[in-house]
Amino acid sequence: MVPNVSSYLLRHATILGRSACVDIKVVDGSIASIKPSEKWVDGSGRGIDEGVPVVDLCGRFVLPPLVETHFHLDSVYSISETGPNESGTLLEGIALWKNYKQRLSADQIYRRAEAFCWNALGKGTQFIRSHVDVAGNHRAGVEALLALKETWQDRIQIELVAFPQDGFLRDSQAEKNLLWALDQGIDLIGGIPHHEVDAAAGAASIARIFAIAAERGIRVDLHCDETDDAGARNAEEAVKNAVGYEMGPRLTLSHLTALGSASAEYLDRFIPMLADSGASVVANPLINITLQGRADAYPKRRGMAPVKEFIAAGVPTAFGHDCVQDPWYAIGTGDLLDAAFMGLHVAQMTGPDELETAVRCVTDYAARVFGVPEKAYGLTPGRPASFVILEATNLPEVFSSGRKRVAVVRRGKPV
Ligand SMILES: [Zn+2]
Repeated sequence: MVPNVSSYLLRHATILGRSACVDIKVVDGSIASIKPSEKWVDGSGRGIDEGVPVVDLCGRFVLPPLVETHFHLDSVYSISETGPNESGTLLEGIALWKNYKQRLSADQIYRRAEAFCWNALGKGTQFIRSHVDVAGNHRAGVEALLALKETWQDRIQIELVAFPQDGFLRDSQAEKNLLWALDQGIDLIGGIPHHEVDAAAGAASIARIFAIAAERGIRVDLHCDETDDAGARNAEEAVKNAVGYEMGPRLTLSHLTALGSASAEYLDRFIPMLADSGASVVANPLINITLQGRADAYPKRRGMAPVKEFIAAGVPTAFGHDCVQDPWYAIGTGDLLDAAFMGLHVAQMTGPDELETAVRCVTDYAARVFGVPEKAYGLTPGRPASFVILEATNLPEVFSSGRKRVAVVRRGKPV
């Protein structure tokens, strides 16, 4: 549908934030202009003399690139070899992966991760933040994903988080391997404080992780309070550390499912603290709706961070896919609109404005969490002509019949 030339005009596009269709002019890989569509006369393009090929989108949605803010490229597509997660819990997933990962070669990880990237690109994803396990003596993931990041830089911007899956303090090798991974060029430092032996160790791991991050000038993305424990306070501990180091906007808190069980009084105290810090949040609704609440009788908790309240408070908030066909989540397509679909269900974001918000949680809000420079992202004149065109012509269709992709465009060219 999109011509393989450097300049063209897309007529009658639906975009977020505009009630009427627009014409998007692309010149040399950048967006040159976005103007309200003039009346279409006979479908031939007559009367439009832009000196470039004209494509009529007939009202189809054009979204900026989808942004994956929380993924695990090292474990993707591994479920056929790890064995099934019988209990459906986070802890059994960690145990299955721990038993399997030592046998994995860098080549295997690279091939599976690359297969996933082709799939994600076809759905319009052009940014992926992936955690890479550095626990035990597992170094193959770091080697594989650093190579993939370089090979794929012109298709998908990948950033990597050094992730001590078995606990930063609990695993005696974790700090050594994590520092090695950062020396190799891994971008961010991760952690998993709720998987340390107790609350004090969780807090100690956070303190050490921030000391390393501050010393190296890197950002932090923690798997944080991915439990149903209403008393978990690692998120608060992380925010206090971030503020102490003046690193608030450099912190992302992933999951935060424990806050789905927290009291209203605690949320009233914590959410303003989080918002003031500038830290961002990623909820992973596909996986957490399946992992959480497993120990509950009825009523059963659903394991979702309070994303509507975060967004209302101004916290940069995204939905991630997290896992695809691995020991934590045996199914999944890698389509971020699936994550948004599940997110809007669990968070009950069904109002007209909330459907738009759910899409933003995998596009422009997610780009803020990722840290994409403002000038490098979005449907705005002067920015790269990178976008995905959907079959849908309105927001309800995006989440029902119209999720099919018509075209994915990167810097003006169809991919
Ligand atoms: Zn994760």
